[in-house]
Amino acid sequence: MSNAAEKPVENHVFEADVARLLHLMVHSVYSDKDVFLRELISNAADACEKLRYEAISAPELLTDDPTPRITLTLDADDNRLIVEDNGIGMSRDDMIEALGTIARSGTRAFMERVEAAKAGEGAQLIGQFGVGFYSAFMVADKVDVVSRHAGSAHAFVWSSDGKGSYTVSEADLADAPARGTRITMHLMDDAKSYTSKWSVEKIVKDQSGHVPVPIDLIEKPGADAERIGDGTALWTKSRSEITKEEYADFYRGVSGQYDEPALTVHFRAEGRHEYTGLAFVPESKPMDMFDPSAKGRMKLYVKRVFITDDAELLPRYLRFVRGLVDTSDLPLNVSREMIQESPILAAIRKGLTNRVLTAIEKLADSDKDAFAKLWDAFGAVLKEGIYDDFERREQLIALSRFRTTASDEATRSLADYVKDMKDAQAAIYYLTGDNLDRLKASPQLEGFRARGIEVLLLTDSVDSFWVTAAPDFEGKPFKSITQGSADLTQVPTADGETPAAPAAPETSEAVTDFIAFAKTALGDAVSDVRASDRLTESAVCLVAPEQGYDRQLEKLLQGSGRLDMIAKPILEINPTHGLISALAAGGSDEFRTDAVQLLLDQARVLDGDKPQDPRAFAERLSRLFERALKG
Ligand code: ADP
Ligand code: MG
Repeated sequence: MSNAAEKPVENHVFEADVARLLHLMVHSVYSDKDVFLRELISNAADACEKLRYEAISAPELLTDDPTPRITLTLDADDNRLIVEDNGIGMSRDDMIEALGTIARSGTRAFMERVEAAKAGEGAQLIGQFGVGFYSAFMVADKVDVVSRHAGSAHAFVWSSDGKGSYTVSEADLADAPARGTRITMHLMDDAKSYTSKWSVEKIVKDQSGHVPVPIDLIEKPGADAERIGDGTALWTKSRSEITKEEYADFYRGVSGQYDEPALTVHFRAEGRHEYTGLAFVPESKPMDMFDPSAKGRMKLYVKRVFITDDAELLPRYLRFVRGLVDTSDLPLNVSREMIQESPILAAIRKGLTNRVLTAIEKLADSDKDAFAKLWDAFGAVLKEGIYDDFERREQLIALSRFRTTASDEATRSLADYVKDMKDAQAAIYYLTGDNLDRLKASPQLEGFRARGIEVLLLTDSVDSFWVTAAPDFEGKPFKSITQGSADLTQVPTADGETPAAPAAPETSEAVTDFIAFAKTALGDAVSDVRASDRLTESAVCLVAPEQGYDRQLEKLLQGSGRLDMIAKPILEINPTHGLISALAAGGSDEFRTDAVQLLLDQARVLDGDKPQDPRAFAERLSRLFERALKG
């Protein structure tokens, strides 16, 4: 009945993103093309694990072939390499969806990075990130995929030269696997080594030695299969039996990243709940770390059967951790929906979170440099926990490291900060913004610098949120230096001026009058104008009123549409500044009005904002120049 010759062949064009990816793949001069094999084996293993899961409720899917298996067949005569599995397989629609589009947002982000990277760097990036099925086109100029979905009476063949289009047609059942997928790569001339038993065996052992599905190798068509991977799950072994290299290989398999794990946490929980956890903190940031839809990537196994990678096994602020949990406490036929509600899972989540955080804390104590790297990569995400995870807030604050005015290179902990606090200093001061250099140049810092008071320089957007959620550290409240009054008068300046002497700058009557004038001139553009004790060099700066939000937080909230109105700032004036004394001493009202408006715009610019009314700003500046030149 079924005769493939009569089956219509459909032509499809790749989705634009796939075409881009393929182009990158083929034209990158990436030397380590071996990774394609790891990608295909990992897909084959996923397919076997999916089948194992489906078969829990539909055992008939296994037919008379219940043991999962991946087979590599080498064919030097025809220069082909075939990767076959007896997993779940793909239907026609699966093929078009899975092999013609890109579903993972991480892949898209990856491509943007590769394209933006300078020549040479892009090739390295390809090596760092899993690029999936399409990596077959790094070594093959034609790829055929024949697949039969478990339980289906039809098989389909997908075929492409990777140059923009592919075909799909129904396959003759006689030419298809009884179940699962066969991928035939017609190798390029310079990829002949992938038909050599020695090279392929080495690559598989190096890259895929811990795939939980056995791997067989057939040296040439018709030869006997030889087992080259035993499919034992690494995590079931005890720690002492596993080498660092084995952990690293396994990490790469489970994470889809090509770096080394920065931290490996492998443990067996016993007692009320029994489970094994194997978790890795990567060395480099996963691509999708700030993608709001990015899910955790911890896999859940029940008695070595893969169940899902959707279970929230860790809180969101640990979403960079990769690995798995294998438990015997859940029933195998647990539905994916039930999992989220399960109290057992809640206990596992808690236990795993503690283990991971404890390991990170240990690293912070034992290896400062390694921890600094980890913090650099993931600190911004970990800090989300300070407001997300009330129970572990203190633990996370203590773990946090900061840029501060005390050091240009080293980061500091809050324990360091508190230890070095000035005698009369009552709060932990911070300044938020999005650029470290600009923060360092902020006028609001001047008075603090002069008194040697350390200020945290916070540049992650999450910082604006957790500082408001963390009421204090060791009894010291957090205080924004751009909000409210600075209260610096109690702390002596670094050159020894004691506060007993007038630390509050003497504000002459003329300056007081000028401040009153400025207030009238500025009207409701500001909520107040007042003399400042936080400025030593600059003439003016803006601060937020005591009540309400810090200025940076206000900007973030407004930017994300969560705040309609920004509170009017306070303009602080440095009474000891030459310009202020000169303005206080006289000048026409007209002139002084221009000057006051310009001072406000200047303070705005120093805050990273624009002048309120650029045209008026330009006109005032011109008038001032003109006056200066005319003498
Ligand atoms: P990923 O594995 O991250 O999903 P890939 O590009 O490697 O991305 O694979 C894309 C999709 O193609 C897979 O998610 C799967 O649906 C399908 N696929 C690939 N290889 C196989 C296979 N051997 N058996 C079944 N499905 C497969
Ligand atoms: Mg894959």
